[in-house]
Amino acid sequence: MEYAYFEGSFVPIDEAKINIKTNSFHYGTAVFEGLRAYWNEKEEQLYILFAREHYERLLSNAGALFMDVPHTAEDLIEITRELLKKNQIREDVYIRPIVYFKDLKLTPKLIDYTPEIAIYTYSFGRYLDTSQGIRVKVSSWRRNDDNSIPSRWKVAGAYVNSALAKTEALMAGYDEAIMLNSQGYVSEGSGENIFIIRNRTAVTPSLSEHILEGITRNAVITLLKNELIVTVEQRPLARSELYSAEEIFLTGTAAEVTPVVEVDNRKIGTGKIGEITSQLQEVFFRAVRGQIERYRSWLTPVYDK
Ligand code: PMP
Repeated sequence: MEYAYFEGSFVPIDEAKINIKTNSFHYGTAVFEGLRAYWNEKEEQLYILFAREHYERLLSNAGALFMDVPHTAEDLIEITRELLKKNQIREDVYIRPIVYFKDLKLTPKLIDYTPEIAIYTYSFGRYLDTSQGIRVKVSSWRRNDDNSIPSRWKVAGAYVNSALAKTEALMAGYDEAIMLNSQGYVSEGSGENIFIIRNRTAVTPSLSEHILEGITRNAVITLLKNELIVTVEQRPLARSELYSAEEIFLTGTAAEVTPVVEVDNRKIGTGKIGEITSQLQEVFFRAVRGQIERYRSWLTPVYDK
């Protein structure tokens, strides 16, 4: 039996249903998260990656939309552990918490409504091709601006922007889109942050470039600096810098570390996964499964031993 956390309790997934009048369904006024938990076969343990960081971001985004969620990050981590146990997960899994206004009322506003939180698990493997690398297209769609719908927040409605860019890329035969921000600098992918490598230096758009403050982005900056001894610059990144990059990769909870081997039909480096990207993938995938002692603090074990 698969369960979801819904309206304050664990219910069979088929019973976790909302009414069509639900306010947030109409206006996209929901905030959500995506977490991953990784299965460690040897230890027979499931590790949630960056549980605290994801739930703190969720609660902070919810606060920005005047959603007063009656749970702390610790409560939500416990609920998530319980859900994973109930679903008897013994493989890599994706976790989707969402906070929405459950009121059956019209009017797009953020006050005098009641927030509700739902959490469910989703079984998917790799989101993009991490083993061969992907082909991307610079989108004709601009990233939503911080002064329209802040890209810093994971707001459901803002994902129309991602959906437009991703669809355009897929229909043109690419795997993913890279969006420029309203100033014309590189922002991010439809669901990933971006890094380029040139002269043993990694460059990623700074947090003021209308991007999501990616949790994987942070982790990767740590790994690049500490494990690969690569300098990391956070600054505005021009579109043309993509074409002369030696390596490019995308980061995200779903995307993990995904190499980009082609941008707008131009080969990146040799057109194969670059050396730094491949070393980074190695250390990232070991860290998230609990195989590197100093990064154990990234993980929350699910099963009591
Ligand atoms: N940018 C966007 C637009 C995203 O949806 C995501 C996925 N949450 C990311 C970047 C990567 O963020 P994170 O590493 O926190 O998953």
